[in-house]
Amino acid sequence: MMKASVIVLGAGMVGTSTAYHLRQQGLEVVLVDARQPGLETSYGNAGVIQREAVEPYPFPRSVGKLFKVGLGLDNTVHYTPSALPGLASRLLRYWWNSRPSAYGHIAGAYSALIRHALDEHLPMIERAGASDQIIKDTGMYIMYRSARELTAEAAIARQKAQQYGLKLDVLNGTELASAQPMLKCSMAGALHWRDPWSIHGPGRLVGRYAELFGHDGGHFAIGHAQTLRRDGAGWQIGTADGVVQAEHVVIALGPWAGEALQPFGYNVPLFAKRGYHREYGAVKNCPDAPLLDTHTGTMLAPMGDGVLRITTGADFSRFGAPPALRQLTRCCHHAGEMLDLGGSRPKAGPWLGNRPCMPDMLPVIGPAPRHRGMWFHFGHGHQGITLGPVTGRMLAERIAGKTPFIDMTPYLPERLNL
Ligand SMILES: Cc1cc2nc3c(=O)[nH]c(=O)nc-3n(C[C@H](O)[C@H](O)[C@H](O)COP(=O)(O)OP(=O)(O)OC[C@H]3O[C@@H](n4cnc5c(N)ncnc54)[C@H](O)[C@@H]3O)c2cc1C
Repeated sequence: MMKASVIVLGAGMVGTSTAYHLRQQGLEVVLVDARQPGLETSYGNAGVIQREAVEPYPFPRSVGKLFKVGLGLDNTVHYTPSALPGLASRLLRYWWNSRPSAYGHIAGAYSALIRHALDEHLPMIERAGASDQIIKDTGMYIMYRSARELTAEAAIARQKAQQYGLKLDVLNGTELASAQPMLKCSMAGALHWRDPWSIHGPGRLVGRYAELFGHDGGHFAIGHAQTLRRDGAGWQIGTADGVVQAEHVVIALGPWAGEALQPFGYNVPLFAKRGYHREYGAVKNCPDAPLLDTHTGTMLAPMGDGVLRITTGADFSRFGAPPALRQLTRCCHHAGEMLDLGGSRPKAGPWLGNRPCMPDMLPVIGPAPRHRGMWFHFGHGHQGITLGPVTGRMLAERIAGKTPFIDMTPYLPERLNL
């Protein structure tokens, strides 16, 4: 029997960062996952530390966009019709929370987290010795094919840049072509957000953070959420290294948090926006920064050493259903229009992951409503790689009995009336 102060269940970016910060607080911590750290959602994403993502993705409210999505004409969003009844109540709440009067407050709470993303990653990256190999300080390009759309989005972006103190260049087609000369097809231009960092291998970065946690005296063990039990006033879980007992448990299971909490009587309105990737190796003239083609929802994410990861937008299909590959196939086709993929072959994929999303677009961070010593930490949606170290530090400070460096009120589970 191993004794600890805290069990952190889930070793994605969110759980690993939490375990790291709990250890920094001097607590005895066991990080538990069914697999090695960073092999699920935190592995296959686009790997951008999105400092510019100060506002979460709202539910589209334009009739034109919804019409195109409905007809399958918009590749940025895909859905499987038979999945919609099961998702309906959550999507309705998501739509309702995206109305302007509610969205303003939500964006305020979201930006309060995002603004710390680079500052919280930086010391961990440096301590992990990951700055050269993994992190590229290139910014991110959001590209537009239509000049009218570019003009409209540039106006919104300039306002956002001013409001939140972000670095932005608006590039016309010629300027974009000279910044990213490998682009084959012409674009109207791009927003170049200069703050974001690009990670070459986000799963590897999680692995490095987990090693750092181990170096600092933390313990990682393979174990399953299904074995989590109440143990007196605390908790216990079965692991490959034996049973672990602790006063606290943090549920950082990303998209699996909902199913893990059901046996404890919580019906968490978490839903997955699925996403895919395929990787190509030995890409000649691979871009040096992530490039998003907004028209097709195709993200070109460089992973280093000539590896290009092509990722998709959101797919609304049943959690656990087989991959629906139409969106990814189209993205790979569009990537071939934009870049010379020439002789390069698909190296990996298709990979399928699940963005863990909440209907109010905010992560859930804080004490479980009815279980002493249980803490929720999930629902980071489109930006869990960006936010893991920020919310990890916040929650660790709270569990250690300190005042968190960001006010936790907007993210507390009690808002969900579970
Ligand atoms: C296509 C795509 C692109 C994305 N791009 C970006 C991006 O550029 N920037 C960004 O910030 N975010 C991005 N995201 C979102 C980001 O990947 C997620 O928000 C983030 O990875 C969530 O991290 P997590 O730790 O909460 O979940 P996960 O990484 O999924 O971790 C959960 C862990 O729980 C473990 N687990 C599950 N079930 C059990 C069980 N029963 N017992 C024990 N362990 C279990 C899993 O093994 C896993 O390690 C993207 C997502 C997708 C899908």
